Amino acid sequence: MSEYYNVADIFGEDVFNDTVMKERLPKKIYKELHKTIDEGKELDPMVAEVVAGAMKDWAIEKGATHYTHWFQPLTGVTAEKHDSFISAPGADGKILMEFSGKELIKGEPDASSFPSGGLRATFEARGYTAWDCTSPAFVRHDAAGAILCIPTAFCSYTGEALDKKTPLLRSMEAINTQSLRLLRLLGNTTSKKVTPSAGPEQEYFIVNREKYLQRKDLIYTGRTLFGAMPPKGQELDDHYFGTIRERIAAYMREVNTELWKLGVSAKTQHNEVAPAQHELAPIYAEVNVAVDNNQLVMETLKKVAERQGLTCLLHEKPFAGVNGSGKHNNWSIVTDDGINLIDPGKTPHENIQFLLVLACILKAVDTHADLLRESAADVGNDHRLGANEAPPAIISIFLGDQLEDVVEQLISTGSATSSKQGEVLATGVKTLPDFMKDATDRNRTSPFAFTGNKFEFRMVGSSDSIAEPNTVLNAIVAEAFAEACDEIEKAADKDDCIHNLIKKYLTEHQRIIFNGNGYSEDWVVEAEKRGLPNLTSMVDAIPSLVTDKAVTLFTKFGIFTKAELESRVEIQYEAYAKAINIEARTMIDMAGKQLVPSCVKYTKALADTVIALKTADADYSVAKEMLDEAAALTADAKVALAKLIEVTAAGAEMEEGREQAVYYRDVVKAAMNELRAPIDALEMIVDKEFWPMPSYGDLIFEV
Ligand code: ADP
Ligand code: MG
Repeated sequence: MSEYYNVADIFGEDVFNDTVMKERLPKKIYKELHKTIDEGKELDPMVAEVVAGAMKDWAIEKGATHYTHWFQPLTGVTAEKHDSFISAPGADGKILMEFSGKELIKGEPDASSFPSGGLRATFEARGYTAWDCTSPAFVRHDAAGAILCIPTAFCSYTGEALDKKTPLLRSMEAINTQSLRLLRLLGNTTSKKVTPSAGPEQEYFIVNREKYLQRKDLIYTGRTLFGAMPPKGQELDDHYFGTIRERIAAYMREVNTELWKLGVSAKTQHNEVAPAQHELAPIYAEVNVAVDNNQLVMETLKKVAERQGLTCLLHEKPFAGVNGSGKHNNWSIVTDDGINLIDPGKTPHENIQFLLVLACILKAVDTHADLLRESAADVGNDHRLGANEAPPAIISIFLGDQLEDVVEQLISTGSATSSKQGEVLATGVKTLPDFMKDATDRNRTSPFAFTGNKFEFRMVGSSDSIAEPNTVLNAIVAEAFAEACDEIEKAADKDDCIHNLIKKYLTEHQRIIFNGNGYSEDWVVEAEKRGLPNLTSMVDAIPSLVTDKAVTLFTKFGIFTKAELESRVEIQYEAYAKAINIEARTMIDMAGKQLVPSCVKYTKALADTVIALKTADADYSVAKEMLDEAAALTADAKVALAKLIEVTAAGAEMEEGREQAVYYRDVVKAAMNELRAPIDALEMIVDKEFWPMPSYGDLIFEV
């Protein structure tokens, strides 16, 4: 490919998208397939057979030798098992390239090692992958050659979901059904389908690969477990939206090219707050596709970095004291004929449909704040939420001036008569155009913010899948819609009922609205007064999945069975304990084999200096002071190391489950901090030549 190209020419060239299907499938088959994609009609095996043939021919033309069912087990990353297209050689010794409808729609990976939380005993380890025709197949090119990737759901022999996609698809059906029900009651007779959309803004760090490889903590855990702050951090805000450096620009260029070919609409890119931190956002898409695309974004960011001598860190908190990374999940619900249910229009106070939707969302988020928080829980995210850089662990909703004013009118008088309008933004410079300000400013500290025609859920971690947050959003809003519909359907006077429901929901759930500074201590106190949950760690958030109200919600819409929820709870406790265990063991390894020995060498060098100075009858007081300080801190480190070894070993002996997770959070993490403190203090005083690994400064300022 030439250095310059037209994006339109390459966009989606590796995707088996609608255009390709139209071209390559017989008209009747194309129509039948669309009935499945659009209306959820069961797929005819005959249709699958023809589609498989066309897909295979297309993929082989793109150079594909293998195909894989591409799925999203509960490990959080995608999984695949490659099969080549070749058939057994015939009598003539030649092979054919084959791919049947059966192979397209169903796979049976030997998947006994994926977490199932007890849903699937190892002796009946069968897990099935099933083609999700609502997310397009694609050909991926990399060192392994070209592979046809088929997005699939992953279920157990008995149909229980073992992945993130299955519940998401179920939740999409729920919100579709309930939204249509609501729209009909509001007089809409035209819309046929309602789909939730998501646009995730992906943050990440880029570091030099050679330096990365010198840090075991980054290799094994994705974050630094030791590290003193460099003299300059992010205090100048000079990186935020700063000019993108050449090396990073070249990297982003290759990332974009790769993503565009895969049909991922990478749209915006910029530097983020922390040095070496960047962001990539695609144009929003149907949540199912958005989830898959976000996985491709994360994979591509990593792969391209490696090719260019860089490493992409997706961890939520790679460097203590430096801003971490998140993933803002922009969410809206839109009808097939283009009505965005979250769009207030110019005069929200007159928009009954919007007000009812808004009131339902407020109710949903207030009722299930704990679940929403849980959907963003992962081990790395515990370092961010509530740490003055990301939203607090408390869920609240930011509405902005305009909507808050409308809501206040409704609550106090039962009706709203005006909407604040945006004003002209006068720049004061004649040659610059004046333009209309949005009626609503931004609030970066809110975890759940209304931003014009969508809600932005800002708690999600950078390395996490967005499947769970969107599953929860779809589910809780579907429930609120369903309950509103139940009332309206019963009512003699529907208009009156709608009017009353809006006022009722807003009044009952106004405690969830908060427009102030979410990072402040005052808010923590205020939120407690309001009775809002403040779940500060993943371990505290996990039980939200199996409360009575959560079980009622998810089973009502067939999104999760109780057994599926319980299995996920088990998996999460395990995942938590395992992650902290790996971190602790990595610290033990680094401290025991690299850091403490280096500090001992340094103290020895200082001792030699003291002796030499003394022998020469020179003033050795400074050297002696340095020696005493280094020796004392090294001794502290050694004691803390012994303690960490002891508590980690005890943790590994415990039975898996909540108690073990709590132990890792309260005991092991505390011991990790105890070890980190003297080592970081040592890094500040030990001669750089003796320090066995790149510092924070080396990592984040010298890419
Ligand atoms: P911000 O000002 O928050 O950066 P952007 O306009 O850049 O907002 O959008 C951020 C993300 O939100 C993008 O991925 C964008 O495609 C997505 N987005 C925009 N409108 C919607 C919508 N109606 N529903 C869902 N996502 C949306
Ligand atoms: Mg944003």
